[in-house]
Amino acid sequence: MMYDAVMVGSGPAGLSAALYTSRANLKTLVIGKDRGALEKADRIENYFGMAEPVSGCELVENTMTQAQNLGVELAEDEIFHISWDGHFVLEGKNGAYEALSVLLATGAGRKTLKIKGMRELEGRGISYCAVCDAFFYRGKDVAVLGNEAYAIHELGQLLPVVQSVTLLTNGQELKEEVPEGVRVVKEPLISVDGTDRVEGVTFADGSTLLAEGLFVALGSAGAMELARKAGAFTEGQNIKVNERMETNVPGLYAAGDCIGGLLQISTAVGEGAQAAMSMIPFVRKQKKSK
Ligand SMILES: Cc1cc2nc3c(=O)[nH]c(=O)nc-3n(C[C@H](O)[C@H](O)[C@H](O)COP(=O)(O)OP(=O)(O)OC[C@H]3O[C@@H](n4cnc5c(N)ncnc54)[C@H](O)[C@@H]3O)c2cc1C
Repeated sequence: MMYDAVMVGSGPAGLSAALYTSRANLKTLVIGKDRGALEKADRIENYFGMAEPVSGCELVENTMTQAQNLGVELAEDEIFHISWDGHFVLEGKNGAYEALSVLLATGAGRKTLKIKGMRELEGRGISYCAVCDAFFYRGKDVAVLGNEAYAIHELGQLLPVVQSVTLLTNGQELKEEVPEGVRVVKEPLISVDGTDRVEGVTFADGSTLLAEGLFVALGSAGAMELARKAGAFTEGQNIKVNERMETNVPGLYAAGDCIGGLLQISTAVGEGAQAAMSMIPFVRKQKKSK
């Protein structure tokens, strides 16, 4: 099914945008994998209109009901990948979604490991996007760091291209089945090694693994990973947008904690609304030209 607008993220930014697109008659879907940053916030007292403190979950769930009442569809899913095929195609754990416009509203943070060599070798053998960088490692031995569905998705992108892939779970239990031929090492990591580029990794028990590339896929795909996969520019830990919340990719927008700034509910809600105001004319124009 083709949606006019898909919001990746069911936090304040994604839901706020959906309220506007749905009321403008755009067929709108909001996809979220959990309650986002607000899951951990048990007392919100600085958001407009709240005479009494509310919990983060309460606030999100109320807005979900509000959105559904306005015709927004909600889906619980984890998005791994976004690509372009005449329209946006979003690949999730539960299936694929098609959209004329997409809002990235996945909150803050890129999951990485604070171990020796990790920061120093970023971009020099350490990658956060298999589909973007697999080609550079054709015929080489690489490793993927992660233990969940997203790591398996990234493995799948690498397997046809590289010589071998080893999955490193860094002491975590493996939560998914691993494709045949993939070696799994569960030992915790203590360093990523190499002088100019990644040459391998060292584990807590002193053993080592030679690898020319390390693909980080911890937890689920965050804003940075999804932005890069979709071809959007990033700056530090943020997706780069203009004041209309447009990325450099036509039809792709970002709002909320993933674009940096104040990192508050009020700003996420405002940016979501602004993104919707840009998505609405974009989608109408797309539909007219078809
Ligand atoms: C403990 C805590 C307390 C806070 N207290 C306050 C406060 O009192 N007042 C205040 O204004 N702000 C507070 N904040 C900040 C506030 O929570 C954030 O600024 C706000 O939630 C940002 O909204 P967002 O929509 O950008 O992201 P989030 O609320 O983080 O939502 C991100 C959404 O993206 C989804 N997602 C992420 N990755 C994927 C994926 N790959 N596929 C599908 N979905 C995905 C998540 O499931 C979630 O739905 C607090 C934050 C924390 C952590």
